[in-house]
Amino acid sequence: MTAMPANLSGLDLRAEIERLRKERNAVILAHYYQRPELQDIADFVGDSLELSRKAAETDADVIAFCGVKFMAETAKILSPEKIVVLPDMEAGCSLEDSCPPEKFAAFRAAHPDHIALTYINCSTEVKALSDIIVTSSSAETILQQIPADQKIIFGPDRHLGGYLSRKFGREMLLWPGVCIVHEAFSETELLKLKAQHPTAPIAAHPECPPHIVDHADYVGSTSGILNYAKTVEADTLIVATEPHIIHQMQLAIPNKTFIGAPGADGNCNCNICPYMALNTMEKLYIALRDLEPRVEIDEQLRLDAKRSLDRMLDMASGTVGKGDLGSR
Ligand code: SF4
Repeated sequence: MTAMPANLSGLDLRAEIERLRKERNAVILAHYYQRPELQDIADFVGDSLELSRKAAETDADVIAFCGVKFMAETAKILSPEKIVVLPDMEAGCSLEDSCPPEKFAAFRAAHPDHIALTYINCSTEVKALSDIIVTSSSAETILQQIPADQKIIFGPDRHLGGYLSRKFGREMLLWPGVCIVHEAFSETELLKLKAQHPTAPIAAHPECPPHIVDHADYVGSTSGILNYAKTVEADTLIVATEPHIIHQMQLAIPNKTFIGAPGADGNCNCNICPYMALNTMEKLYIALRDLEPRVEIDEQLRLDAKRSLDRMLDMASGTVGKGDLGSR
């Protein structure tokens, strides 16, 4: 974790970050699951696919990535000539942790007639072992381009893979990883909440287990859920994904009410992503000031991982929104 100097308390962090952003010719990218103050200072806020595209297109010299490590690594894979900093290098992901490259390689070797369709929430090494990367906003479009008789391994999120498999009637070998945040939603508490707000639709991310997704009126990526919030007629929406996305909903549609779906005791913070929460304004300031911690990737590994990412960008091309997982 980044060491935190004791003398930051007198600083106007927002002004300092603005100054450094100009001095460094930096772009600040933030995921929807980041703290509101990081979303507010970012040049661009988006989901994994949108942020990948921004990272590939930017002409900035420095990318300050407010997200988790696999996202910052994706930015470096796509923009190797840029300096990519992540405010806290400990910002990992339970899905990445669930899929060690050596075990994934052995699984692939045991199923040589399968291609590996892999969720972007994985390490650079696993991307290098994969054929095509998907995000939750591109998975449906990409899956539909794969011939029906092609056997598929889907990893590391078994809930997203299971959702796609059920929706398209397509058998896939599923890696047994889960997101600890989406796994924490409680069906019992969700139904109690729904009883209190019977006209409020439920929007869920496909990383949620089936007992949550089955109650949803809309299933989609973070950007898909945000679009749904803007267009659905209801004035109250129940949101079953990491609750920091509600900040963008409140900014875009201030007259609607958004209620985060509850965790096990109905009142816990267990669906706030502990990895995303590691990034702070203080750490972003230090990252821009010191240009550390910096993402570095071995060049051969980067090229190997880029192949599967490039396939994603090609196959998802022109389909953001339209190619989302969509309404059920
Ligand atoms: S919300 Fe889940 S999938 Fe996203 S970074 Fe956190 S642990 Fe990983």
